[in-house]
Amino acid sequence: MNSSSEIYNILRKAARIAKVPPSFIEKISKPEKILSFEFPVTLDNDRTKKFQSFVVLHNNFRGPYKGGIRFYQGVSLEEIKNLATIMTFKTALLDLPFGGAKAGVKVDPKTLSEGELERLTRGFIRAIYPEIGPKVYVPASDLNTNSKIMDWVADEYHKLSGKAEPAVVTGKSLEKGGIEGRNEATGVGGFYVLEEAVRKGNFEVSTVAIQGFGNVGGAVAQVLSENGKRVLALSDSKGGIYISKGSLDIRKVKECKEEGGRIAGCYCVNSVCDLKNKGVFLGKDVTNKEILELPVDVLIPASLENQITLKNAKKIKAKIILEMANGAIFLSCEPALLKKRVLVIPDILANSGGVTVSYFEWYQNINKEKWTKEAVFEKLKEKISAAFNQVWETAMRHNISLRESSYVLALKKLKKDSTI
Ligand code: NAD
Repeated sequence: MNSSSEIYNILRKAARIAKVPPSFIEKISKPEKILSFEFPVTLDNDRTKKFQSFVVLHNNFRGPYKGGIRFYQGVSLEEIKNLATIMTFKTALLDLPFGGAKAGVKVDPKTLSEGELERLTRGFIRAIYPEIGPKVYVPASDLNTNSKIMDWVADEYHKLSGKAEPAVVTGKSLEKGGIEGRNEATGVGGFYVLEEAVRKGNFEVSTVAIQGFGNVGGAVAQVLSENGKRVLALSDSKGGIYISKGSLDIRKVKECKEEGGRIAGCYCVNSVCDLKNKGVFLGKDVTNKEILELPVDVLIPASLENQITLKNAKKIKAKIILEMANGAIFLSCEPALLKKRVLVIPDILANSGGVTVSYFEWYQNINKEKWTKEAVFEKLKEKISAAFNQVWETAMRHNISLRESSYVLALKKLKKDSTI
């Protein structure tokens, strides 16, 4: 993960342009609250195991703290701090009435049974109960967490508070107060941003490689292929595939992955899968490193952080990188990408569709409304396209990157709403 000092280098430059005093940057650089603790979970064999976890409440100048809960073996406090910081700027950039936060439990959920996963989730919520609430900290799903887990979060909160308040968490199932389109929201938002970027920059884009095929990577792959783009490469944690002929059939690849538990081997084009890779689609296996360096127009890192580094930045051939995973690009290598004239659409803008639709869910819950999927995506498109256009214009005006421009705009909004 990018170190805090790298993020603050960007912030300092952004502050000069936004005309925000250094004292404000000092204030906003520090999380307001950090929790780091272990909590016990009873396993199926009746033994108790303790799990390390972190919650960082970064800033709430603009509204309740907002940020996902991730279950991941590699979670660290530094990473959660940085992700919480990014959330503060992301919610400000999108003009959402939220602040920034993040939570993580150090666990590989694949090693737990469903019962253990539920007890882990409920135990974590009991431990952080005083910190959450519809107007306090509103968590959401993130890496390795989903709507079922968010339903447990809402239910545990209900048990503890004695009140059913679905607005305490977003990313719930539809039956439990979730919103239409939330599963695809981050991917669809990324697509809208990419469409704007292509239009503004007069790019010709046809081919795409996507690293990560979870909630975000799967959705962005689907919407791109529905809109005529050729998705040539996909990967998951076990590796990936690349075809140089046709375009991957995303629905078929999904089915194939569900059956086999991995993307590797799922060479599916036009409803036909060449599982033995007999060369029908000129397919080849690629590693998660190789997928980043393929000759495609658009590269979409949608898995973990730290994927594009000083080592591989020079080998990237894409014209556009849509940074869907938070912190996928090491900030120190961004100048090398920009020098190669790669358009980098930064995480805080590219993946902001998720938190935007989370805001719609929270708003619906508070106001007891229910919107259609069409209405959700229409409002998302309007909001995210407006944010993109502001970012683009600010970048052009000051001759800065889209990331720097995003931070300039977010800082201005934060300063306006702060009392310091
Ligand atoms: P997910 O758990 O649904 O999917 C993650 C994907 O990455 C899976 O396909 C997994 O197999 C793959 N993966 C895991 N380890 C890998 C590795 N070492 N190399 C390559 N691929 C690997 O998670 P998600 O919700 O899709 O989130 C992905 C990223 O997007 C994260 O950085 C997350 O913070 C960010 N994000 C998610 C949302 C959201 O709405 N879910 C919103 C904003 C940002």
